[in-house]
Amino acid sequence: MQSFLTHLQCTACGTTYPADQLITTCPACGKVLYARYDLAGAGAAMTREALASRPWDLWRYREVLPVRDTDNIVSLGEGGTPLLPAPDLGRKLGLDRLSIKEESQNPTGSFKARGLCVAVSRAKELGATAVAIPSAGNAAAAMAAYAARAGLDAYVFMPADTPEVMKAECRAYGATTVLVKGLINDAGKLVREGGATYGWFDVSTLKEPYRAEGKKTMGLELAEQLGWRVPDAIIYPTGGGTGIVGMWKAFDELETIGLLDSRRPRLVVVQAERCAPIVRAFNDGKRHAEPWVDAETIAPGMRVPVAIGDYLILDAVRESGGTALTVTDEEMLHGVHQLATLEGLFLSPEAGAAVAATGKLRESGFLRPEDKVVVFTTGTGLKHTDVIPGDYPVIDPGSPESLASVISVR
Ligand SMILES: *Cc1c(COP(=O)(O)O)cnc(C)c1O
Repeated sequence: MQSFLTHLQCTACGTTYPADQLITTCPACGKVLYARYDLAGAGAAMTREALASRPWDLWRYREVLPVRDTDNIVSLGEGGTPLLPAPDLGRKLGLDRLSIKEESQNPTGSFKARGLCVAVSRAKELGATAVAIPSAGNAAAAMAAYAARAGLDAYVFMPADTPEVMKAECRAYGATTVLVKGLINDAGKLVREGGATYGWFDVSTLKEPYRAEGKKTMGLELAEQLGWRVPDAIIYPTGGGTGIVGMWKAFDELETIGLLDSRRPRLVVVQAERCAPIVRAFNDGKRHAEPWVDAETIAPGMRVPVAIGDYLILDAVRESGGTALTVTDEEMLHGVHQLATLEGLFLSPEAGAAVAATGKLRESGFLRPEDKVVVFTTGTGLKHTDVIPGDYPVIDPGSPESLASVISVR
């Protein structure tokens, strides 16, 4: 297996650059760089038959991933997540063919592992010795884990009110962990400052070309799990947007390779009512999103007031015939409750948001009962025990009558 990476290309001005250098955004215009491949060569090697005998993790798509030398792959067993049928939840929401792409089963409990596994592997390959990241929590934990395994120094900057587990993960992996009185964009400024002074390589969302390549594998995997077809709709909780843009890129590459036809799923961006820059831009018909002021939500992954890839997200959603909508924190919690009680999955508020949005889209008629709908559950609930009510009944074993006082018979 080999990578068919050829060069990098700016998604805004089109300038191309050699791929084998440590690089962040486009030197000419500051926008997002994409990795480009010899897709004819990749297609000849990455056939259905070749794939059939490969391990079920994200490195099975090696031809369209950027790491050149196998020795540089830093892996914790990422990708290869299940696509679970969700009949009970589907019945509740009025959908006959609902599935869950269950991303919380990735290392460090979120889909962020996909992007950071590829970004850290590639940074190591290109000679980086230290990596840094501004993060709402999950990306920091993933980067810290892969940096530890790669033997790179890690610096993470995250909002002071990030869930405790995510802070603890970073510390546990040995990352220098700094809390910022502000949001992820404020943390981003510190990473840029520190990068210039101390030589850290900045792996911020879409500010280097390879996290999106890792996220892309969600689209590759989903298409393969559906027998090289796409669903009618993908519901995705969106912050910085790499999930959406990565999958969109994946479907285009698969079509060029010949593994998919020109059909595309409708992409649905889900954001929080009090942090919805992409939804607002979508509704206003704009290609760029204004920064959101006073962003607030219980879902850290969606508390992203500015996205450098706004135009890529909005283009993909519009081209796909998709939509963008918000849900409230209460609706997210209801979604978390439904996932856990109906399907046995304790997941994060972002996943709950995707479920809540799915219900709304069914009610509005955007989704039809017979549509094949895939909800992405991006993170584990185990980092969010604070959102579950903690008022348990307590029994004194010395007083037998107390059992009747706490058990309600169904
Ligand atoms: C980061 C994150 C998101 C948002 O993902 P993007 O691809 O950056 O839009 C959603 N859910 C969880 C759990 C996250 O950690």
